[in-house]
Amino acid sequence: MADYDYDLFTIGAGSGGVRASRVAAAHGARVAVAEEYRVGGTCVIRGCVPKKMLVYGAHFAEDLEDAKHFGWDVGERKFDWKKLRDNVLGDVDRLNGLYKQTLENNNVEVFHERATITGPNEITLGSGEKKTAKYILIATGARPHVPTCPGHEYGITSNEAFHLDAIPRRVLIAGAGYIANEFAGIFHQFGAKVTLMNRSDQMLRGYDESVRDRLLQISLMKGIDFRFNANFEKIEKQEDGSLLVFMSNHEPLNVDYVLFATGRVPNVEGLGLEDVGVSVNERGAIQVDGNSRTSVPSIYAVGDVTDRVQLTPVAIREGQAFADTVFGNKPTTLDYSCIPSAVFSHPPIAGVGLTEAQAMQQYGTVKVYTSDFRPMKNVVAHRNERSLYKMICDEPTGKILGIHMIGPDAPEIMQVAAVAVKAGLTKADFDATVAIHPTMSEELVLLK
Ligand code: NDP
Repeated sequence: MADYDYDLFTIGAGSGGVRASRVAAAHGARVAVAEEYRVGGTCVIRGCVPKKMLVYGAHFAEDLEDAKHFGWDVGERKFDWKKLRDNVLGDVDRLNGLYKQTLENNNVEVFHERATITGPNEITLGSGEKKTAKYILIATGARPHVPTCPGHEYGITSNEAFHLDAIPRRVLIAGAGYIANEFAGIFHQFGAKVTLMNRSDQMLRGYDESVRDRLLQISLMKGIDFRFNANFEKIEKQEDGSLLVFMSNHEPLNVDYVLFATGRVPNVEGLGLEDVGVSVNERGAIQVDGNSRTSVPSIYAVGDVTDRVQLTPVAIREGQAFADTVFGNKPTTLDYSCIPSAVFSHPPIAGVGLTEAQAMQQYGTVKVYTSDFRPMKNVVAHRNERSLYKMICDEPTGKILGIHMIGPDAPEIMQVAAVAVKAGLTKADFDATVAIHPTMSEELVLLK
């Protein structure tokens, strides 16, 4: 190993890259990381973390409204976007500092510049300096995909959404996936008129249909508009600075902002992959084997740049498995089954395992248990929003194949329920567990 400058050179200090680097260093490797933007990556700097803080902030709109029914006189209500924005960005700075410190504490050397792979064991930094490493790890993540049409440059993405000067009066969100539904809830609660448009007639593909339908119903009830089967034709900037959006199958729409939330594409450009022989698939993602190894034996890749499952905890696990396998003498392969996930919409949804449609396709017949209820808090608050929990079981054995839910705290409840599904528990195991009353999660052990 002494022939190389480092044992590991990681490109990209996001969730996967930081975990891999710090664990490899803890296993005794000499590690360096190149990061051209900010240490922490999308999740910490302009994704999950600041988004969740905005979701908390947005929820106060309903909480303060509901408070009246619980006897509180909250007086005049005013929302100060800049205050929330700056507090959130301040906390992002704090986390960025902690991530940097983690690398420092583990003696990981950080280069704040772009890196290009110029050989199976060689990296050239933006400064022109060359470094060598026994292994190279690509953890460059992904970036928002923006569909092209005349005027698409007037739109923004989630990257910019955290930095706005003001909450738009009217916003069109393109896409109907995770980011679209999360920001629809955020902007709506902050008082914007929100319209979601999607190219297909579905939202949140991959989630259970009944749960998606419930979110659509509740969103419509709250006043969010939807335009399905809509493709951009052009976006025209008006004299007053607003945007006039022309789309197929619908009337033009005048808005202040267009937010593109139309998927994310792997960051592979300019890495030198073609020159060194690293293969990418038809979606432009780096191809890897079960150990995150690319077509070049000394080069590995983890996280969104491999487009396996675009979720932070998965990237972290991939980074950990890589470091344990290559530097920790502990070969680890990731099990991608039963990965729970959540959408922090208003209300949130969460799921683990097979949807009803997937289970029907795989198993032929399945037994589905549902609970469709109005949470106690919503009853007192006169809020006409019902939750829906759904458990899908194998017919003869009762083994739980999937759980899906929409309602307050669904992601918190799902994290624990996912342990049971992952462990292969049955409906009978849930039935044998005594309820905690009164809770929403008790519905899971009372399903009939
Ligand atoms: P999603 O994949 O969730 O949704 C993409 C949406 O954009 C879909 O509605 C899709 O339509 C549409 N779309 C895709 N490509 C095009 C295109 N070329 N033109 C027009 N529309 C298009 O992506 P997001 O951008 O919302 O999020 C990216 C990823 O980040 C997610 O997949 C998720 O893995 C991760 N993420 C996770 C979060 C969480 O865990 N809570 C939060 C935010 C992001 P159609 O349905 O027709 O395909």
